[in-house]
Amino acid sequence: MKMIEHTKAILDAMADGILVIDKDYNIVFANKTMLECCGIKAADITGKKCHDLLHLCPVPCPEKCHTETCPHTEIFKIGRSVSVIHDHTMPDGTEKIFGITASPILDEKGAVVFMIEVLRDVTECKKTEKTLQETKDFLDNILEGIGEGVVVLDNELRIIKANRGYCEQVKRPLEEIIGKHCYQISHGHDVPCSEKRNGCECTVKRCFETGDCGRALHTHYHNNGETLYIETNSYPIKDSSGKIVYVIESLIDVTDMVKLERQLDESKERYRKLYENAPDMMHSLNEDGVILVCNKTEAEELGYKIEELIGKNISEIIPLESRDFCKEKLEIVKSKGLYEGEMELLARNGNVIPVIVKSKAVYDDNGKLLFTDAILRDITKLKKLEDQLRQAQKMEVVGQLAGGIAHDFNNILTAIIGYGSMLQMKIKEDNPLRSNIDQILAACERAANLTRSLLTFSRKQIINPVPVKCNAIIKKVEKFLLRIIGEDIELKTLLSDRDLTVIADSGQIEQVLMNLATNARDAMPDGGTLTIATRCVSSKENILTLGTCHLPLDTEFAEISVADTGGGMDEKTREKIFEPFFTTKEVGKGTGLGLSMVYGIIKQHGGYINCYSEAGKGTTFKIYLPITRTETAKEIKAAGITKLKSGTETILLAEDEEAVRELIRNMLVEAGYKVIEAVDGADTVNKFMGNKDKVSILLLDVRMPKISGEEAYEKIKKMKPDIKVLFISGYPADMIQKQSLIEEGLNFIAKPIFPLELLKRIRSVLDN
Ligand code: ADP
Ligand code: MG
Repeated sequence: MKMIEHTKAILDAMADGILVIDKDYNIVFANKTMLECCGIKAADITGKKCHDLLHLCPVPCPEKCHTETCPHTEIFKIGRSVSVIHDHTMPDGTEKIFGITASPILDEKGAVVFMIEVLRDVTECKKTEKTLQETKDFLDNILEGIGEGVVVLDNELRIIKANRGYCEQVKRPLEEIIGKHCYQISHGHDVPCSEKRNGCECTVKRCFETGDCGRALHTHYHNNGETLYIETNSYPIKDSSGKIVYVIESLIDVTDMVKLERQLDESKERYRKLYENAPDMMHSLNEDGVILVCNKTEAEELGYKIEELIGKNISEIIPLESRDFCKEKLEIVKSKGLYEGEMELLARNGNVIPVIVKSKAVYDDNGKLLFTDAILRDITKLKKLEDQLRQAQKMEVVGQLAGGIAHDFNNILTAIIGYGSMLQMKIKEDNPLRSNIDQILAACERAANLTRSLLTFSRKQIINPVPVKCNAIIKKVEKFLLRIIGEDIELKTLLSDRDLTVIADSGQIEQVLMNLATNARDAMPDGGTLTIATRCVSSKENILTLGTCHLPLDTEFAEISVADTGGGMDEKTREKIFEPFFTTKEVGKGTGLGLSMVYGIIKQHGGYINCYSEAGKGTTFKIYLPITRTETAKEIKAAGITKLKSGTETILLAEDEEAVRELIRNMLVEAGYKVIEAVDGADTVNKFMGNKDKVSILLLDVRMPKISGEEAYEKIKKMKPDIKVLFISGYPADMIQKQSLIEEGLNFIAKPIFPLELLKRIRSVLDN
């Protein structure tokens, strides 16, 4: 008995509840803890069934299916101990959770007679566990809910947690990620980034070391090789002692943003370059005219650095005399929003640059002026070309005028000279009237020279261009030039080694050199040096400021430069030198026709001429003639003087103007020739047919009514192929147009006709 008391005391002392239950669910014993837990007295326990007490249920649990894991069945059927956790409803209605360990109590034969249950109240423990689970689920849901990648790393950079965002970023399932190193998964490396030294600092490592939250932009790799730009943020996770145990890293895919940024940068750069390298100057001004920005072109053209220009007032780069004008235009831009027109800029070195400016005002959303933009185009070259064009047009008009006058004047001169010459022949030398006629003829000679010069200028002079070598021409005229310039002036010739063959009339080029030498002499009254040089230049060198743009790019030119060390001339003079009758020399000394002739000749040769001169610094003329590949036809012969001869042959003379015809006939008859006269082209052909065997030479005016001189010649040639001919040209242009005649090597003589010259030419045609 004492023993039983003792055992009961032990069981009552236990903190766990103890129940002993028989086969029919009757509670046969409950210890003190159990009674207290159920709020029941020991006396009331007798007759109570376990399902009654613990579940407030009138039927056994297995029947009611109150709980599928009722230990009662297990114990009494199988006789094995079981542990379960059960919810129980206490007699006062409260819900409790018990951790139950049930064991069988056996009799001597080994049959199960009772079941003993040890019940531990785990209600509080389970509650805490549930709260914990809920918290965990809550946190997990948050983590998963974040779209960005999030990983938790241990101090060996092993991934101990990763969310779906991260899995998607690296395109791998969670199982492949957990436990791996972040550098393996994110970067595809076998070693930490810090060892890789690839320039991307590992913020996780730093976070572990210093506790600093770190942000960085990294390149990551997909396992399919695609590069991603990832912005990472690392935060330390500390334990209660403050030790950093983990680092949580968020990873935001900013690839699209980075790409967009790069595109934006590229586009910005493109625009910047477009602005900087634009061929035109550009700037923006604030309301007061202060330069806010400008491009490189503007800075370079004005001779400043960009930084020097920024902050300057626009008036500082405008010539003093244009400042008011500029101010006015700026006001127009501000009020009307737009201005377009011409202006001038002042470069640092004092040069004035003419520009076309297009300026526009830029306003903010409220209509307030922000700044004015301007594009400025340098039109220096354009202006020069414009000037040149104007000059060329003027020369053309003057040339036409001069040529027209010269032509008519030539006919008059022909008559004066012709009749004068005949008079001269008839008046004996001792006659007192003889000197009068001599004077008249001398004056006529001068007048004829004048008209010839004018015709040369107006490019109406007959030229006979053949391939000739420039150096040969210069060598040939050297001795004449020496005579022109006199002893005080030294002549230097620097001739190119290469033969510069040009298509030219060498007589005309000689004329050019002589005219230039004459001027050089006048410019060096106290002596000096005249240098004539030749060289080959290509139009690529852009040597020509005159009409450069019209030159075929691959053309080579012979450059003949004639330089003196004389007084030079100022810009104003230089602009006019090629105009006929422009002279700065005193009356009687200069005619103003020298350079006009030069100009006409060079133009007629398809060449260019430039003059470089400054007052006190000498003058250089540069002539450019296109080089030809054709071989020179013949050596240039020194001009010999053929002896004048008369003759007795029969000449068929065709001239429509009666006065001139009569004059020429008289001259020829006086010289001993027989003359058959024709009044026009048709008459010429008829007259020839009637006198086929008699006529030795045709003397034909080029321009005649009905049939021209040339056509008449063609017809006659068919009848007598070796017929000799000398054309008379009243207007040398006739001959120029009939280039074919010149090419055939036919002879012509220009009005005004000097009798001696005519007779000489007839003789030479007959004798050749
Ligand atoms: P002219 O010699 O009869 O005056 P030109 O047509 O030959 O006429 O020359 C026109 C003007 O050009 C000259 O009067 C002179 O002012 C100027 N000139 C020409 N060549 C030179 C030179 N080599 N040096 C200085 N001035 C020159
Ligand atoms: Mg002259």
